[in-house]
Order: sequence, then structure tokens, then C-alpha cells
Amino acid sequence: MLRRLSSFGGSVVDTIFPSRCASCGEIADDSLYPNLCGDCGRRIKLVDDPKCTTCGYPFFGETESHSACPHCENLNAVFQRGWTISLFQGPLRDLIYSLKYEKGLWALRDLAELVKKAPGLKDFLQDSDLVPVPLHSRKLRERGYNQSLLIAQEISKSLGLPKPQSLLARVVDTPSQTQFNRRERSRNLRNAFSLIPKSAIEPGRRYVLVDDVFTTGSTLNACAGALIKGGAKNIDVLTIGHG
Ligand SMILES: [Zn+2]
Repeated sequence: MLRRLSSFGGSVVDTIFPSRCASCGEIADDSLYPNLCGDCGRRIKLVDDPKCTTCGYPFFGETESHSACPHCENLNAVFQRGWTISLFQGPLRDLIYSLKYEKGLWALRDLAELVKKAPGLKDFLQDSDLVPVPLHSRKLRERGYNQSLLIAQEISKSLGLPKPQSLLARVVDTPSQTQFNRRERSRNLRNAFSLIPKSAIEPGRRYVLVDDVFTTGSTLNACAGALIKGGAKNIDVLTIGHG
């Protein structure tokens, strides 16, 4: 396998072997991202206007007068705006996969670069608190870290924003969501999240939920519901990739 040999990047191994692209395995030269080659780096497209205001999916040249977005029209979102930096495909999908399932914490350096390049993101996040989507404690033990928290921290550092606020806990260990449709996912997630005791929600404050991928939006919506229950009134969401 032509994956990088180091797990955190910048180790001794890197000085002996040239870096390999985490997506295609070629020598990672001339790249916009530390762990991708130039070709793979250029394949990551940043979402720009026009796009869906609920889930962030780009309309690709269609006008905003087009009807509802097919990716979120049945979501009944309780959050206000949704923003996604890119699409969950190709090299970005490989980076997120490594981060979630292969302990590839080095991929955070690439995501930090992505965050810095995203048009308008700093303005979108101005005057808000980032709130990572939590993992259940069993999953957290298994994985060793919550990738959404690490991503939120990377966003804060890259854009010079206040530290993320871990306000939510995943209190129900729901079965893996992948085999369920949207309605079943929502039902599964009912009451799966709650406010961490003594978390102080300021009703006038804006909260931006952060997750790695927007799939059906059910998880983010359930988290937004838990924040609303705790008194929050102004909630938006941000994901790295739209699935
Ligand atoms: Zn949408």
C-alpha cells in the first residue's frame, strides 16, 4: 500500500522517503495540500455560490430560482443555514476516510489548508461559537478521538476564531446509520443528543455545528434540536464535504 508511512506527518520517515499522495500514491509534489499530489489537490473543488442555503450543495450553474434542493428538501431542518466546503468525493473522501477509520491524523493538515481556501468561510463563521457533533463514549473509546472536534479545532486555528465549545453529548448509542433511509435515521436519532450538564447556552449567541460530512443532514438536525431544547435560537451548520 502506498500510504504515507508516518502517522502525524513531519516525522523522520518523511526526510528519508519523499511523501506519497494519500489519494493516488504518486510522489506528492507541487501540491496545494501537504499529503496530496498536485493533480489530486486540484481535483478538490471548493463550493461557491450559487448553492443551497440549507445544506450548502452547489447548484452548478443552475439559478437559485430553481425549486427545492433534492439533497435536503425532506429534512425539515431546524437549523437556519448550512455550509459545506467541498464535496465528499475523490481525494477529499480519501482524506476524511483516513482521518475517521485509519487514525490518519495527518489529514488534519490538509483539511486546514482546505479551510483557509474556502471562499467566504471566515465571514460565515464570524461572531459564532463552533460546536462539534459529539461521538458516543463507546465510539470515542474505540476511535480514540472525535474527528469533528479535531476538525473544529483546526478551523478555529486556521481562521483565528475562538476555541470550539463541546456543548453536546451523544447519549444514545444508535446503530450505524448507513443502512437506514432518511426517515429511519431521524427516528433513530430522536433523543440521541443532549446538552452536557452545566453547558451555558446564550440565547442571543450564534452556534455553528461542525461535522465531517453532510449525508442526509439527520445527525446535524438532531444536534440542532438538542441545542434548541437548551435555549439556543440561532444555529447554523458547517461540514467539510457534502456526501
Ligand atoms: Zn440542500
